Amino acid sequence: MSMHLGNWQLDTVNGGWFRLDGGVMFGVVPKHIWKHVATPDPQNRILCANHCVLARDGRHTVLIDTGYGGKYALLDRKFYDMEPGEPLVESLSRLGVAPSEVDHVVFSHLHFDHVGGATRQDAAQRLALTFPNAQHSVSRIEWVAASSQLPELATAYPSQEVLSLRELTRLRLLEDGEEVVPGLTSRMTGGHTEGHLSFLFHSNGQTACYPGDICPSTYHLRRMWHLSYDVFPLDTRRNKPRLLAEAAEGQWWMLWNHDPTAVVSRIVQDKKREFVAVDVSNTM
Ligand SMILES: [Zn+2]
Repeated sequence: MSMHLGNWQLDTVNGGWFRLDGGVMFGVVPKHIWKHVATPDPQNRILCANHCVLARDGRHTVLIDTGYGGKYALLDRKFYDMEPGEPLVESLSRLGVAPSEVDHVVFSHLHFDHVGGATRQDAAQRLALTFPNAQHSVSRIEWVAASSQLPELATAYPSQEVLSLRELTRLRLLEDGEEVVPGLTSRMTGGHTEGHLSFLFHSNGQTACYPGDICPSTYHLRRMWHLSYDVFPLDTRRNKPRLLAEAAEGQWWMLWNHDPTAVVSRIVQDKKREFVAVDVSNTM
């Protein structure tokens, strides 16, 4: 999709489609309920998009999240049914954008499907930045957790590439509410990870929100429908409905990261279903 929000041109770019286990996608929600919303494949996996956002305003070229990239091992690629090649770079090139033109890379959090595309292997099999001219930003709290190497977080983060980011670039560590560039601010939502950030674009009195994995798709609009990857599920249950209520009230455009059909929509409150998507666009 391509949409204009005041001075911003927002395009979704493909960070790579993949599949996640249905139980992981919907946490405590029983399968006999979620299977009517999202159909699992024979291995019980749900098809997930990976819509990253390219935002341009004539001064900056900002990329939010980088997908999973092109360097994971064949076994992982099969397990998650990942696309071959470098989906993000290929998707950018279809928009006529070269990696060297991106001046800001901003991460919602540092799980493999959001940070993997930020690095690639060079000819000598060393990790190199995919976007060599970009300032890379992540929340301070997320960085502390992802680089901690705590055993209880070890499987959540691809530690080798997370740690290599610090060697490859001078990371900018964001606080809650910090302006990334004019017209783009961070919003600490926690829940999915302790330092998880959503992002808000503002221009001409309009707002667009990239909620990230605190609400990865329109399947997740209900309080109790959240990923079992969430490290702080109670914070998701508290903070997500708050963010969604604000989005409904302010008529924000929501940019859904992992939704296989809805790329962008608005949301409204609903007595029975809490929130529902309206003005849905299936392509951006
Ligand atoms: Zn994700």
